[in-house]
Amino acid sequence: MQKINVLGIHFDNVTKKEATDLAFSYIENGTQALAVTPNAEILELCLEKPNVKKAVLSAQIILPDGEGALWAAKKLGTPLREKVAGVEFGEEIARRAAECSKSLFLLGGKAGVAEEAAKKLTSRFPTLKIAGVHDGYFNREGEENAHIIAKINESGADILFVCLGAPAQEQWACENRGALTAPKLIACLGGSLDIYAGKTHRAPKLFIKLRAEWLYRLLREPRRIVRMVRLPKFIKSVKKHIKLQNEV
Ligand code: UDP
Repeated sequence: MQKINVLGIHFDNVTKKEATDLAFSYIENGTQALAVTPNAEILELCLEKPNVKKAVLSAQIILPDGEGALWAAKKLGTPLREKVAGVEFGEEIARRAAECSKSLFLLGGKAGVAEEAAKKLTSRFPTLKIAGVHDGYFNREGEENAHIIAKINESGADILFVCLGAPAQEQWACENRGALTAPKLIACLGGSLDIYAGKTHRAPKLFIKLRAEWLYRLLREPRRIVRMVRLPKFIKSVKKHIKLQNEV
């Protein structure tokens, strides 16, 4: 599988279908894989925070969620084939899990969101087995954390969706994957449970087509502007890398 290096993060150059095949190859083999879907903000954060970079690089499957990563790959002369949005990747995983009788545990979101997401996903994919759910507001250290890990393992879930927001979810998955003995696929999917539950909505198709999904999310959630300050920094970092490349 070809990898594309964008600012030190090695993306899998795959289509959404190939990403799903890749994820299921780990489940079939019984080897645990972590899947992450960094966007431009997270790529920039990886340059600033070594512990975030370490967590992202510990993943076996790295998919580009967002136009920023695609733009950077193209500018660096190694274009990625397509955007694989975490929310769509998760949907494909759920669809395939229903077909192959693999069970799913949903972790994350406010109280009731994971339950609602489970309900909506099973009405879309009636043979989908939900092994368990838990909200994402818990103490990520000590007893409570250990209790949630035990709950996931006891559920026997083949797949775990971790939806705690980035980069907390990548760090949690990286730190706890050794103790997560049941799931063979751990996928970090940000706000996807809110979308599956119908609490928030994806951008209308026109925004997606115009590659302006980020703008739609910003208009709906203006608080995102705080994170978006990383975007100009990201553009600067990409330009710096191109300059370095040209000097070699
Ligand atoms: N979340 C959570 N626990 C927390 C903080 C956030 O479960 O301590 C959830 C939150 O309810 C939301 C998701 O994480 O469902 C973050 O969504 P966002 O769209 O901000 O995702 P990101 O852009 O960070 O991937």
